[in-house]
Amino acid sequence: MFNRRPRPERHGYAFEPEPRPIQTSQTADGEDVNQPRPRPQQQRDEWRLTSLDWCHCGNCRLMKNVKGSVCCRERVELEDKIGENTCLINEKFKKLCMDKDVLELVYVSKKDILGESVTQDEIKNRTYRFIAYRCYIWWVYSRLRKNDRRPIPSCCVWAIRDKYPEDSGIYTGFIDVDGLPFNSDDG
Ligand SMILES: [Zn+2]
Ligand SMILES: [Zn+2]
Repeated sequence: MFNRRPRPERHGYAFEPEPRPIQTSQTADGEDVNQPRPRPQQQRDEWRLTSLDWCHCGNCRLMKNVKGSVCCRERVELEDKIGENTCLINEKFKKLCMDKDVLELVYVSKKDILGESVTQDEIKNRTYRFIAYRCYIWWVYSRLRKNDRRPIPSCCVWAIRDKYPEDSGIYTGFIDVDGLPFNSDDG
């Protein structure tokens, strides 16, 4: 076994609550009157929508929702794939999750398994993006599980979006790959 070098700039797992000062005041009989109430995780992470302080790879951009506002460097399952690089966007990612030939092959094989026909001009950028997101999940987790929502890091989502952009420039948010059909609306 080997010892992994610590990454000093890492400061926590995705969606870890931000440390905030807890202010309490006490009445004469010692009862706390300003007990902080636990807030839902989503609410605690809303700072991620307006700040990129959560990005440690330098390639993430702001997302429309909290769940998708995650950096590749915040996910423990990506550490081995990132290795000594600063971001998951490396040659392997580009080959497996962005290469047009790979995505088309996955598309055709998926269609074949479903018994559906493929026409030459059928694949749109939206479909490429969806296949790319699925390839990411297969690459990282080996399988797609129903109702198992795993965010794709913002840096990776934007790399895919930049290569296969939506004409309108409008994307719908959290990339929920599981359970979505191949040609569904995407983020
Ligand atoms: Zn990042
Ligand atoms: Zn990254």
